[in-house]
Formats: sequence, C-alpha cells, structure tokens
Amino acid sequence: MTESAAAFANTTLISHPLVQHKLAMMREKDTSTQKFRRLLREISMLMGYELMRDLPTEEVEIETPLEKMKAQMLTGKKLCIAPILRAGLGFVDGLLELVPSARVGHIGLYRDHETLEAVEYYKKFPEDLSNRSVLAVDPMLATGHSAAAAVDFIKQAGASDVRFLCLIAAPEGLETFHKAHPDVHVYTAAIDRALNDKGYILPGIGDAGDRIFGTK
Ligand code: URA
Repeated sequence: MTESAAAFANTTLISHPLVQHKLAMMREKDTSTQKFRRLLREISMLMGYELMRDLPTEEVEIETPLEKMKAQMLTGKKLCIAPILRAGLGFVDGLLELVPSARVGHIGLYRDHETLEAVEYYKKFPEDLSNRSVLAVDPMLATGHSAAAAVDFIKQAGASDVRFLCLIAAPEGLETFHKAHPDVHVYTAAIDRALNDKGYILPGIGDAGDRIFGTK
C-alpha cells in the first residue's frame, strides 16, 4: 500500500506505469543482483526524465542540413548529481545517460552510535557547487536523518538549489526531512507504509546497498 504524495509537503510521487512496474520487480525478493542493477539504471533514467521536466530552456539558432531554425536548448545552472554512499551510487549511471555533462559529488555518512548524529566520513564536490543545481540521490528515504544531514553538508558546501531523488520514502522520513529542509523538493516512486524497529522501510526492498552490490 502506498500513500499519496498530496499528504506530504514538497513531494512528487512519480506514478508513471513503467516506473511502478520496474519498482515492483525490484521489490521481489528473488530478483537477482544483475537484474536489480539493470532495473535501477532504467528507473533512474525514467525518474530523472520526470524530475527534469521543468528545467529551463532558451531559444538558440541552429542550422539543420536544410536551413537555419530556432530551437530550444537547456540553459540555467549546470547539474551536480550527489549520491549518498553507498546505495546512492546505483542512481548515477542512469542519470549520467540523461545528462552526460553533469558533475558527480560524493558524500559518505555514518551514524555515531552514542550521539546518533550523522557523521560525514567522505565528501568531494565540484568547486563551483554554488553555481549548480544539486540532485542528492539515495534509493531509500527511511528515517530521513541521513538524507537531512547529507543535504546540510551539500548546502554548507555552497549549494542553494537542491532536489532529492529516492525510490521509496517512509512517511516518517519525509516528515523529518521536510522539517529540516522545507525548500528541498523530494521525488519518489513510492511512499511506503512505515519503518520497522531496525529502520527498514516496510514493505520496501530490503537493504538497497546489499541488493545493488550483491553483498548479502
Ligand atoms: N536503507 C535501506 O537500504 N533499506 C531500508 O529499508 C531502509 C534504509
């Protein structure tokens, strides 16, 4: 059972039938690592296509083999894709197929068991981050704490135009995230029922990193 995005601020549920079909196949527990990766690459392109539909374009003059014409080309800020390690890496190849010139900035976080704070252990962004639109990516928006912390670090590095892309969000994660970053739009293919006591999304897809990298 998935919830409607209308109940959540600044959230778009990408309900395209191809996205939903591929997500259903990814959820199946017997889907192989190879198939899971292929589906994630495909769904990244479809979701990226949807979330980039409002990118600004400008009229430019080009010349076809027959004559000159005015055509629309992308303008505005260049893109930086920012995967949250490690599962966020699964989104990168598909998004780069769409926007081959995008830069990729990485962010690694772990949770300190005593303070429960997200601690950054790795960060590398392009130098001109303040001039770029940043698309933070992580398949699972679960508690929302690491997503919110990742966006804190992205903003501290100079970005002011940030979006967040995930496959599945938990209702509690969306609320936590939006309290921290009301300006950041979230794009997701599903809003699932709840979190379990270990912080996994139900029904979910299990551990996204293990399923992408075949580590379990
Ligand atoms: N991270 C995952 O990989 N899966 C979940 O269900 C929650 C967080």
